[in-house]
Amino acid sequence: MKFISTRGQTEPKSFTEAVAIGLAPDGGLFLPETLPDISGQLAKWEKLGYADLCFEFLRLFATDIEPTVLRGLIQKSYATFSVPEIAPLKQLDERTYVLELFHGPTLAFKDFALQLLGNLYEHQCAQSGLGINVLGATSGDTGAAAIHGLFGKPKTAIFILYPDGRVSPLQERQMTCTGAANVHAIAIDGSFDDAQRVLKEIFGDQAFSAQHHLSAVNSINLARILAQCVYYLSAWLRLPAADRPSVEFVVPTGNFGNVLAGWLLSRMGVPVAGFKVATNRNDILHRLFTTGEYRTGDVHASLAPSMDIQVASNFERFLYYTVDGDAAKVRAIMAQLKATGAHHFAHFNQFNFTSSRATDAEITAIIRRVHEKSGYIVDPHTACAFKDLNPARISVVLATAHPAKFPAAIRAAIGQEPTHPALEALKPRPVVKHRLPANAAAIKAFIGQHAV
Ligand SMILES: *Cc1c(COP(=O)(O)O)cnc(C)c1O
Repeated sequence: MKFISTRGQTEPKSFTEAVAIGLAPDGGLFLPETLPDISGQLAKWEKLGYADLCFEFLRLFATDIEPTVLRGLIQKSYATFSVPEIAPLKQLDERTYVLELFHGPTLAFKDFALQLLGNLYEHQCAQSGLGINVLGATSGDTGAAAIHGLFGKPKTAIFILYPDGRVSPLQERQMTCTGAANVHAIAIDGSFDDAQRVLKEIFGDQAFSAQHHLSAVNSINLARILAQCVYYLSAWLRLPAADRPSVEFVVPTGNFGNVLAGWLLSRMGVPVAGFKVATNRNDILHRLFTTGEYRTGDVHASLAPSMDIQVASNFERFLYYTVDGDAAKVRAIMAQLKATGAHHFAHFNQFNFTSSRATDAEITAIIRRVHEKSGYIVDPHTACAFKDLNPARISVVLATAHPAKFPAAIRAAIGQEPTHPALEALKPRPVVKHRLPANAAAIKAFIGQHAV
């Protein structure tokens, strides 16, 4: 299996190459050259546990990794989860299920992809004999999940930049209390945008970047999307057979990576009724799916901070399919978006997507209502997905974070704070962070001292 760029100006790559490169050299995102049809395998896969199912699925794509090696990497990735089901499917009422994606080490769904990506990087280092220095900027969940995907790994260091004082105290603890010597949490004196600007500048210095084998943790790596397909597949296989075709997956959405994975899976021959993109007040995707217009706006802080985005970086992958794989059209639309911040789709093929938007007040009300009705506590991101569930369908709501990560928002809604042992365990540990100014020279000097 080869992987092509959405912009059509990159030679097709193997799985390992595409994962190592991340972003295609032509500026596009990698996609499988063709999507396999897995409809004939589904009955056979019904009884498999999570890691085995993941192996059967990923081996269709990672064809350049020895199967026994791939199986080992996958088993190691999901052994860090705290429940044997890995992604438990819980039924709330006759028509509503919750797919719990928060049982990984940092209690958010990003662990599904970043545990695996960490092990894939480790494998590549072992093969090449070279070390790797991973660099990223975060406003919260991605940084924590990336750190936990890489901490303690040989010949690897990870440097995560975040805005000092502007991530939640628990998120900061997840990044700074690991006790691992190869983790460097850098609290910069500035905003998240400053962190990203510094990061761009450092990667722009190609001599520095090559000298230290710098690699970016980014939200667009192909391996992340493919790893995320598996929990949709697992949920579908665990539903009663009669419910499967009428299922709608309802997905709290920011960069469009999570829901895109589910939609790609459906295009591989897994029949479902649809996908619902649930946004918070940052509703660029809700506006797209209701009006056909994609227009970037200002980012507003919300109770669901991991969905506070103004451009959905994985949107380009969906765009590729809406223009029937015409890479020239993708390039033209992306150029227009870059120049004007907007594109209107005259004949928008939205496939089987619908959408919703929840304000902060609605998020709070939903957390309260779901708790009163079912005794179940949803985090503020997951709460967005409970807005206007379609009664004509079986809804599978993706629970993207554990409520204990957002104690203040939960207390405001139901008067109590959920806890989690993994978070309690962090509280007595020392916070180890490096405060640095938001300039590339200072960060580069730090990386120069600590790189492997
Ligand atoms: C990252 C994140 C999201 C958004 O996921 P996308 O793949 O960016 O759409 C939603 N909820 C939580 C808790 C997250 O960490």
